[in-house]
Amino acid sequence: MQILWLWVLLVSAFSTARATQWHGFDRDGLALYLAHADTGRAHALLGDLLIGRSEIQRKLGGAPAVPIAVYLAPSKDVFRELTQGRLPHWSAGVAFLESRTIVLQARVGNLRQVARHEFAHVLLHATVPGRMPVWFHEGVAMWASHEWRLRQSAAIFYAVFSGGLIPLSEIDDVLSFPSAKADLAYTESLMAVGFLIRLGGPNAVVAMLSELEAGAPFEVALFRITGITPREFEHRWRDNVQGRFGLMALLFSPDLIWLYLTLLLLFAYLGVRLRNRATLRRWEAEEAAEELPVMLRVYRREDEP
Ligand SMILES: [Zn+2]
Repeated sequence: MQILWLWVLLVSAFSTARATQWHGFDRDGLALYLAHADTGRAHALLGDLLIGRSEIQRKLGGAPAVPIAVYLAPSKDVFRELTQGRLPHWSAGVAFLESRTIVLQARVGNLRQVARHEFAHVLLHATVPGRMPVWFHEGVAMWASHEWRLRQSAAIFYAVFSGGLIPLSEIDDVLSFPSAKADLAYTESLMAVGFLIRLGGPNAVVAMLSELEAGAPFEVALFRITGITPREFEHRWRDNVQGRFGLMALLFSPDLIWLYLTLLLLFAYLGVRLRNRATLRRWEAEEAAEELPVMLRVYRREDEP
């Protein structure tokens, strides 16, 4: 009986994607495949995806307009099956670089941003098919799709205080990381790309890509754009992150002036309120005393020193 039950479970888990009827919508080299329930949003979504793709193309300095297929998985089971269960539970989208196919979970809140992120991976690979470090791939995808969340800043703060920043080279294994560590790895990747832009100028990513496209190894391209070796880059990047997220930076950040001012106003307000309340109580007591019969009032006054 148990074996039969297990078999039923397995069959139902593995047949969900095959059972899904895919509806295809095609425009300008972008093929969108949706389950029947999602077809109502097909045209709006296809329009958004096309805008997203051209934005990313522009940010990457005019990446080639390769045909891309996007599957919108209607459930987690279908997503898992389409991605062959190779992805960790925390991923909301995935790009298969060789086949230029993107699989997205239909029910995530930031679908358009996830799609942009995956477009960036596909277009990066179409521009430079050779190997590049995962921190660069991820960092550029995040930078191009404008990803920055407060939750990620918190992870960096914690890592800086506990000395737990992940070395950039270890980020190559991000897919095997648990969710919190992966979050940190992604944030670090984005910050490393930010640092690259700081050293190499606003055009640094595009310049890196054209170096790589011309056949330069990643380390050489990084040296040409930043003027420092990868080891020095990592060292200075780490210092930069620690400087930005250390305790002193936290206390003296100009951004925090507003927080301090708000707190000051809040305390001032609370102080005034407390004083007002005390005054009111005194007045109430005095009023109560006024209302007392004359005899008693006299008696009370006599009683006062
Ligand atoms: Zn990614």
